[in-house]
Amino acid sequence: MTKKMNDRTLLAHAAVNPSEHHGFINPALYRGSTVAFPTVAALAGRTQPYRYGRWGNPTSTALCEAINALEGGAVGTVLCPSGLTACTTAILAVCGAGDHLLVPDSVYGPVRHFCDTAARRMNIETTYYDPRIGAGIAGLFHPNTRAVFLESPGSGTFEVQDVPAIAAVAHERDIFVLMDNSWATPLFLKPLELGVDLSIMAATKYIGGHSDVMLGTIACGPRAWEQVRDMHFQVGQYVGPDDVTLVLRGLRTLDVRLQRHQESALTIAHWLEQRPEVSRVFYPALPSHPDHALWQRDFRGASGLLSFVTRSPSSDFVAAMIDGLKLFTIGYSWGGFESLALPVDPRSLRTATQWTETGHLIRLHIGLEDVDDLMADLEEGFSRLRAVEAQKNL
Ligand SMILES: *Cc1c(COP(=O)(O)O)cnc(C)c1O
Repeated sequence: MTKKMNDRTLLAHAAVNPSEHHGFINPALYRGSTVAFPTVAALAGRTQPYRYGRWGNPTSTALCEAINALEGGAVGTVLCPSGLTACTTAILAVCGAGDHLLVPDSVYGPVRHFCDTAARRMNIETTYYDPRIGAGIAGLFHPNTRAVFLESPGSGTFEVQDVPAIAAVAHERDIFVLMDNSWATPLFLKPLELGVDLSIMAATKYIGGHSDVMLGTIACGPRAWEQVRDMHFQVGQYVGPDDVTLVLRGLRTLDVRLQRHQESALTIAHWLEQRPEVSRVFYPALPSHPDHALWQRDFRGASGLLSFVTRSPSSDFVAAMIDGLKLFTIGYSWGGFESLALPVDPRSLRTATQWTETGHLIRLHIGLEDVDDLMADLEEGFSRLRAVEAQKNL
């Protein structure tokens, strides 16, 4: 086949090489530290494809190749033990002492924590910016600005960023552009095609897809590949073959899972908008979302994570609603087959923008269950909320 494969075909065929694995469709789980060399000359020659466990094996190569293919234009991918280490490794690969880093105010909380603690201790200075700043980010560039980090849509609050506009002004100044693309995955947004240098994912979420594994990926365009590969190598990051295999298995069904997540999330988002207990719904695929046009321009779909604000300002009412849910589990992370509910408070995590909603923000991950069952569960939750509210108002 000479035509470039479409994503669905890539998911089924990328890095599937039975002839290299005794005919088996999937690669074996290569466990190991020592790799044998036939001669001293082979050891010295450094041409043997695998030379030590930490530096990769045929199992990890398969996942890296599949991610390279899917990310479109990636010259290389490294695997990290979690999504967070992928974010921090990417930052440390391009920033050093004395450098300035720009990070969106809506960034994943633990990345903010890293910037405010470990990165600061290394004399990397972070400025948080309004995620909706667009090309205006140029006004925040200092002579020592080394990198701009993006995450779109933002954690919890779902602001969509103008990726091409930010990338264009950053590249005029030779500034690296890093993006956390966990929400969309490369099926719904391809950061490298929009000018991003490092496309980061918590594969823990949709790529793994089954809540049974943690892993992060950094797919690199040509500008940043050497630096990322060196940093990953220098600090000695490694992911074991069991976890790599689980992520590779999850990847094969990413498209069908995301289609269901998207369809059900959109149905529930529309339904939530009509609920009297809800004041706002944050989901970029909704026409009412403030960045809907930008999402439509750049994204090819929306995944299963959204949030809404309750009209009621009381946390007791919110607990009454969430505690009794039967199909929505209370817990961190998302991207698995199951639905999740989590109260989140962005107030303590915003410094460049203001969170002015008076109600409670609740994040939902819409899983693969039947959407009518999910809405019935939420509906009962809203009834509990109203009952507690009515009791209080007596
Ligand atoms: C969960 C998450 C991460 C971190 O992934 P882990 O595998 O949990 O470390 C990074 N970025 C975003 C946007 C996330 O939601």
